[in-house]
Amino acid sequence: MNLSTEALFTVALGLQAPWRVERAELSTAKRRIDFDVICTERRMTCSHCATPDQSIHESIQRSWRHLDFFQFEAWLHASVPRVACSACGKTSQVPVPWAREGSGFTLLFEALALSLCKELPVAHAARHLRADAKALWRRIEYYIKVAREQDDMSGVRHIGIDETSLRKGHEYVTVVHDLEQKRLLFATQGRDHKTVEAFTQDLPGHRPCEHGYECGLPQRGSAATAQGGHLLRPLSCGSPGGQGHGRGACGGVQGPSRRCGHCAG
Ligand SMILES: [Zn+2]
Repeated sequence: MNLSTEALFTVALGLQAPWRVERAELSTAKRRIDFDVICTERRMTCSHCATPDQSIHESIQRSWRHLDFFQFEAWLHASVPRVACSACGKTSQVPVPWAREGSGFTLLFEALALSLCKELPVAHAARHLRADAKALWRRIEYYIKVAREQDDMSGVRHIGIDETSLRKGHEYVTVVHDLEQKRLLFATQGRDHKTVEAFTQDLPGHRPCEHGYECGLPQRGSAATAQGGHLLRPLSCGSPGGQGHGRGACGGVQGPSRRCGHCAG
């Protein structure tokens, strides 16, 4: 391939300086296209402390599965620089713009994989993508963890707890729903009292209240209700250790610390 072809693929892959495609190799026999991507900078910003113009200590060869180019399975390969920082003293890998750290998939491939996994069983999605199902499960678990960490349940006032069987068998999961917003808040294996304990332990991390996180005090407007076979209960801030506190005892509103300064210390 000539230079203009590599430049074309650089644009097609959305790469910007200092990254560019140096070589593209198409194999019709393997139905695969491989891109060698290079970094043209000799000095880079430290990813740990953001100090610019640091020397590159070494480079590590990495590969990423990318979206197919037409019928060809596409792979990116690059030597990723590790910067030796004179400011913080650490040696850290430069992040690449096409993938998150530690992933063997590009961001676009991950997005496609996760979209497919919403529509299909993971094993079917893996076959469709010609990828390992375990690799897809690792991405699903990673993004579920990220999404749950960001899930804000501070507006939840009434919950419904129910059980359901898995695959019509004798394995059960307990699910907790927000009855007002009609969304799933929590699910865990089993159907005994430990499932409720697991929910109460999980809840404080998602529930900043007027007292701050994890203070265990009841929220304004919470109310006990019983309906059908579901358990409806008033929601406190979530901490099981809140006994003995009156509402007015905790006046501290904490911001991003995720701990109530009054009672969670
Ligand atoms: Zn640094």
